Amino acid sequence: LGFWDLLPTVIYPPLDLIVLVILWRLGSGDLRRSPPWVLLIAAFAVMFVADFSYAVLGMPEGGAIMTVLDAAWVASYGGMAAAAVHPAMRYLRADTDPLRSGTERTRVGAACLALLAPLVLLLAAPEKVTAVSDVVAATGLVLVAAATVRFQMGADRNRVAEAALAFRASHDPLTGLANRTALLDHLSLATRRAARARRSCAVVFLDLDDFKIVNDSLGHGRGDELLCAVAGRLRDATRAHECVARLGGDEFVVVLEDLDGVDDAIAAAERVAEVFASPFFVAGTEIVVSASLGVVPNAERHVDEVDSALRDADLAMYEAKALDHGRVCVFDPAMRRRVVDRLEVKNALSHAIANDELRVEYQPMFNTADGRAFAIEALLRWQRVDELVPPDSFIPVAESSGLIVPIGEWVLRRAIADLAARGPESTLRVSVNVSPRQLSEPGFAYLVVGIVRDAGLVPERVILEFTESALLEPDPVVDANVQALGAAGFEIAIDDFGTGYSSLAYLKRLAVDWIKIDRMFVEDVGRDDSAETLVRTIIRMADELEIGVIAEGVETLTQFEMLRMLGCEAVQGFLLGRPSTEPVLDATAILEAAGALS
Ligand code: C2E
Ligand code: CA
Ligand code: CA
Repeated sequence: LGFWDLLPTVIYPPLDLIVLVILWRLGSGDLRRSPPWVLLIAAFAVMFVADFSYAVLGMPEGGAIMTVLDAAWVASYGGMAAAAVHPAMRYLRADTDPLRSGTERTRVGAACLALLAPLVLLLAAPEKVTAVSDVVAATGLVLVAAATVRFQMGADRNRVAEAALAFRASHDPLTGLANRTALLDHLSLATRRAARARRSCAVVFLDLDDFKIVNDSLGHGRGDELLCAVAGRLRDATRAHECVARLGGDEFVVVLEDLDGVDDAIAAAERVAEVFASPFFVAGTEIVVSASLGVVPNAERHVDEVDSALRDADLAMYEAKALDHGRVCVFDPAMRRRVVDRLEVKNALSHAIANDELRVEYQPMFNTADGRAFAIEALLRWQRVDELVPPDSFIPVAESSGLIVPIGEWVLRRAIADLAARGPESTLRVSVNVSPRQLSEPGFAYLVVGIVRDAGLVPERVILEFTESALLEPDPVVDANVQALGAAGFEIAIDDFGTGYSSLAYLKRLAVDWIKIDRMFVEDVGRDDSAETLVRTIIRMADELEIGVIAEGVETLTQFEMLRMLGCEAVQGFLLGRPSTEPVLDATAILEAAGALS
């Protein structure tokens, strides 16, 4: 026997075994239950037994043994063919670790070579083993090639899916920007890089102002488009290796690198803010958007705790938002202290009602015609141990924590009880400030109606002061409350008028009775022509809508006379009466002394 006759015989069994072992190792979990894998394993096991017997038995020719061996080979090739064309073949590599896909390719290649080698040898053999051996070998080649291609196609498809999953895990699906996870990864690299190069990097936290209004008025689709446009501009405003991330909602974070220090960081952050200098165009609509930015310069100092840099930038952004829209605010440690203070205030405030620490003072509202008070406004005070805390320092905490709901209810009960205590002859009205949070409680109108009825008063003696911001966007609960209160006979006043948004549609929609012109405008009356023009315009508009006007914060006689001349029917302010537990309701003496009453 020549070399070419012996070689296949000797090489077949070990190759079969190699393929078997590789197949076995490739199979795991679900794969072991998949038909192609089982077929392949069975086929190679049968092939191995047949090849091994053939070699061991000394290559018998013909006879019963050969018939059995031939049958085994046919069965084995049949099994492989069946595996190759089985539809589940493409799922053969179901749950492989993507990180190992490199070595896996090698294994697939090795298996493929092991499968091909005997077939190539069979084709290359100078003497044909049987008449059909070429056909068998060629068919085998085609089948192996088909199986490998299918297998690899499945693997590639999975790799694409894996890449998509990996992208998802590190990117925001809407804008394609990095997400929080990727941002933190990037930040720890950037801080390390900066620390090594003795350079600075900065974290800029950015939150769009009034994005909710855009979303509610233009729809979520347009809102999404705007977010994508913002993302695009932020990308353009930063260098390719700098990270721009979206943390969800309208919050973005930019990591600025290779900076010279604090001033450079602030300048760079201001350049980022420039992105909002020109309006955005979303589906043909021009939208002016501003954003509040919080900056943490020297972020490289947070190298071991980058999430704290992110938190600080968030705090600074929050501060920027509180100060004014469209601002850039640099983090300083006092901000962290303020947050702690707020928490502390919130805690103490939550016990204020039970501890009987709340008080109400009343500030009269006077008719400009005769200097007599027609109503008093209830103004909340918090007596905290030995200090009287003004509302501006705790109302915001009460609002954001929701404590304003029980506290507001307490004020209402107190103010109405105090009014009822004035007796049945009194015609004085009480005006109570209502927070937006209270107005969006579904049962609010019922609650107020009940309190007033239980006190034996008519709703006509109660004015409810709402802020513009609470009424601007039509909200079913708020509108239902306001309408029910109006229908019950309560008077509705718009507090701080002019400081909110300029949309006046809600004045008609909600049948408003009073506008309270904000102190800001009143301040300049008598000093500044444009302030007068504005106040005159407001009064004229209110007249047309049959809405009464109260000027807030009247401190001087000049303001008083000017306002009366402009047609303002009521005033409130330190000139005629400060908030007090015992408000003086008659200012005629003051006005007569000044010669302001004719
Ligand atoms: P507001 O409703 O605009 O109340 C008027 C504020 O201006 C009061 O401050 C009052 O003391 C002050 N004020 C009145 N006349 C003058 C003046 O001539 N000059 C100056 N400079 N100030 C004047 P206060 O009592 O500190 O209240 C501040 C804010 O706290 C109120 O502004 C109101 O928004 C809120 N607030 C007070 N009580 C309540 C309440 O019971 N519930 C709610 N939700 N908010 C309240
Ligand atoms: Ca008020
Ligand atoms: Ca006010």
